[in-house]
Amino acid sequence: MAGRSDEMGAAPFVPEERSIPILGEAVQKCRGCELYRDATQAVFGEIDAGASKQTSRVAIMMVGEQPGDQEDRQGRPFVGPAGKLLDACLEEAGIDRDRVYVTNAVKHFKWEPRGKLRIHKKPSAREIRACRPWLNAEVEAVKPRLIVCLGATAAQGLLGSGFKITQEHGKLQQATGLPPILATLHPSAILRAPSDEDRQRQRASFVQDLREAARFADGASKPRRRTVQE
Ligand code: SF4
Repeated sequence: MAGRSDEMGAAPFVPEERSIPILGEAVQKCRGCELYRDATQAVFGEIDAGASKQTSRVAIMMVGEQPGDQEDRQGRPFVGPAGKLLDACLEEAGIDRDRVYVTNAVKHFKWEPRGKLRIHKKPSAREIRACRPWLNAEVEAVKPRLIVCLGATAAQGLLGSGFKITQEHGKLQQATGLPPILATLHPSAILRAPSDEDRQRQRASFVQDLREAARFADGASKPRRRTVQE
């Protein structure tokens, strides 16, 4: 099965039931692309474990790129430095953490060795496509009012390769078959900013985008139409 996996994608591994616990268990057996080989485990989406789990309707699904080193080891999304920054910015934007489901476009950690370190490697368009059935299943299970794409990889995966996050961030978009989408920076990009000044500017822009997301999730603004270029 692994030999044919590149062409196959995740679809044959996704169970029919749209329940996050069942999907999260099934994803561990996914061989839809080659990324499972070097990862510790698949990292599926979740509502923050510290919040009042599943008690209120999820308003926003946040989609990042892929798990990082710490996420891969712990088996949970956004538990590293980027996750801490995300939590702080959500609070600043007035978004309840327990109404946010966090996940990634790709469920296994792609990395390359540098000495003893495992360095993040950007997933390819083919790997993102292969993993898309899991994201679709999460959307069907969670039924968010809004998807927030964190970074260009997730945004281009859902809104097409021509999507330019630098020009379109913070604006509501609509893609066929999905809830409204708003794209913004990935918190990791803010952490990697070359200077304190850049970091503060990017953080302020990120929080502003999250405030726009909150306005929509509260029903105060409407998306505009956008045709996805696959
Ligand atoms: S990255 Fe996605 S498609 Fe590839 S093996 Fe992991 S879960 Fe399956």
